[in-house]
Amino acid sequence: MLDALYKPKSVAIIGASTKELSIGNRIIKNLLDFGYKGTIYPVNPKADEVRGIKAYGSILDVPGEVDLAHIVIPNKFVPQAVEDCGKKGAKVVIVNSAGFKEIGGEGIQLEEQVIEKAKEYNIRVFGPNCQGIINTSPNVRAYCNFTFTKPEEGCISIVAQSGGVGEVINQRFSELDIGIRMYASNGNACDISIPEIIRYWGDDEQTRVIVLHVENLANPKEFMEAAKEVAAKKPILGMKTGRTKEGAKAVSSHTGGLAKVDIATELIFKKCGIVTFRDQEELCQAAVAFANQPIPKGRRVGVITNTGGPAIIATDEFIDAGLELPPLSSKTQKILKEKLYSAASINNPIDVLATGGTEHFRAAMDVLMDEPQIDSIFINFVTPFFVDTDSISKEIVEVNKSHKKPIICNLMTDKRQWTETIGILKNGGVPCYSLPETAARALISMTRYNDLKAREIGKITKFNDVDREKTRSIVQKAKKAAREFLSQEDVNSLLELYNIPVAKWKLVNNDTEATKAAQEIGSPIVVKVDAESIVHKSDVGGIALNIKEEDVKSVVEDMEKRFAAEKPRFFIQEFLSGGRELIIGAKAEEGLGHLIMFGIGGIYVEVLKDVVFDITPITAAEAKEMLSSIKSYPLLSGIRGEKGVDQKKLVEILQRVSQLVTEMPMIQELDLNPIIAYEDRVVVVDARIKI
Ligand code: ADP
Ligand code: MG
Repeated sequence: MLDALYKPKSVAIIGASTKELSIGNRIIKNLLDFGYKGTIYPVNPKADEVRGIKAYGSILDVPGEVDLAHIVIPNKFVPQAVEDCGKKGAKVVIVNSAGFKEIGGEGIQLEEQVIEKAKEYNIRVFGPNCQGIINTSPNVRAYCNFTFTKPEEGCISIVAQSGGVGEVINQRFSELDIGIRMYASNGNACDISIPEIIRYWGDDEQTRVIVLHVENLANPKEFMEAAKEVAAKKPILGMKTGRTKEGAKAVSSHTGGLAKVDIATELIFKKCGIVTFRDQEELCQAAVAFANQPIPKGRRVGVITNTGGPAIIATDEFIDAGLELPPLSSKTQKILKEKLYSAASINNPIDVLATGGTEHFRAAMDVLMDEPQIDSIFINFVTPFFVDTDSISKEIVEVNKSHKKPIICNLMTDKRQWTETIGILKNGGVPCYSLPETAARALISMTRYNDLKAREIGKITKFNDVDREKTRSIVQKAKKAAREFLSQEDVNSLLELYNIPVAKWKLVNNDTEATKAAQEIGSPIVVKVDAESIVHKSDVGGIALNIKEEDVKSVVEDMEKRFAAEKPRFFIQEFLSGGRELIIGAKAEEGLGHLIMFGIGGIYVEVLKDVVFDITPITAAEAKEMLSSIKSYPLLSGIRGEKGVDQKKLVEILQRVSQLVTEMPMIQELDLNPIIAYEDRVVVVDARIKI
């Protein structure tokens, strides 16, 4: 429960300053300007008052109870201040001061001391190195933050790891005339975490939409649990920054997170049902729609317009994003034919014409509200001077009141002249945009949220025909031998223990054994060099494909000569011709489990880069989604008379790999490349496992 943080009855400021250009002064001014309903206690040993409010020498001298205390003094005094707050019985502190984990060394120790003191006195910590919180609720009005944007009351709650990003978002909402409910920027987040804040807002009835900015997730598992739970209740619009190598490096010095390229966070977002954005403007514009409108129940948009071109731009956006503009029923078209001008277009988009008046717009809105195959309404409204635009606006607002289907309006007008029209729509809760693509994208985001929510991912299949004990002992044996990569023999045995089909194979020491193996497997065969020091066999010419039994001897002799220094053995494998070369990979992610990858494989995997990722464990539905999300999916489903591949088997293998790495967390990396897939069979021909 974060009530003491968001609904404090009193706020003390340790480090309250009489200097106007200081954080300790600004926080008090912000509380006063925002109309804070509780009591303010400045703490300053040298001043009698700050901004006209009586100051105290120590927090221990404050007469009343303290719910929340800001700490804005130099870092090395902060642990002591936390202790004093504890003694005073304060419930939560916001440590605005910087100089903790983000600076490394001494900062890390200081942060640990803060945590220790907080635990000792059962006090919660927000920050350090942070801005603070805002609560616009009329009976709280808490602006416990040193920034400058004063938001209106609304239903969007914002949590931003970076205070700078948070403030930019706040500013944009302010410019867009949209209010917010609560705000948080918790910096280093040593105690009160983003998952906890999100959960709190999940239960806050006045929060309809959550906006989230993260740079790195401290505890991905905890985040996933919280976000999944909350995103099922209300939309979370998320943005992850620091996606590039350079960006990630900047993050590490910013919040003390690890410097590594992070693709996991966006996957986590998706898995939790968070609508992801890469653009703050798009996010803010979408939030406006989410704040006011019901969520569309599907992808089918009905468009009403009184001007052609912009409706076409919007239509392009919709179709590109996978939305649909279904044709209207003949019954509906008949109604429109009666009610609209004869030159009007009575299909989807409905063009009421520039001369279309209130009753025309009304008729179009009514039919779209009634059409069962329409999920959302997009109105493209230019304000001609020869129709009563105020009256049209009032009619849109009237229809909007039903809240049956979302209405999004692209309002093309002169803001200085049509103030009345704009005001009617805005006050009536109709989200208005000034460009068709911006408006369309807002509706697309709402549709994406519905898609994410409606998505049935099913349950994890647990295969019990696997041999965990033997698998574990193989891995442990390799670990004891201090191997980084498992031997070919071990990898193949391990895959077989998990019932992942591998091409018929034999490991041999010399040409005589090789020829015998070829006879058993049946020629033609493949000869692969096998030595601990060789990782990429084709790079060093260690692969001979399509070898007939009678040629095995000379091929092996040749490799024996070339690789004499490596003291190799030889891997004899059945030769598989034709088929599609695919890849499945997995990689351990700190604090998360494993990422799993699927795509087009073979030696060109790095060039083609047609791969997709997910987080283990995955369900059959998620595995299917992985298959269908690669660009070359038509190659799997069959194209131009060519047959497709056994997708059912691929889905099963993906799930088995997912189970393997989940049950064997010692596996750092796993790489099945290639897997050769046919219409009725899927076989692994090369695999690597790193522990
Ligand atoms: P590496 O990845 O170490 O270079 P691979 O075993 O993946 O070696 O072999 C390289 C390429 O040779 C594969 O991408 C595939 O095209 C082909 N290949 C390997 N084994 C077989 C096989 N058993 N049947 C058919 N082609 C194979
Ligand atoms: Mg390979």
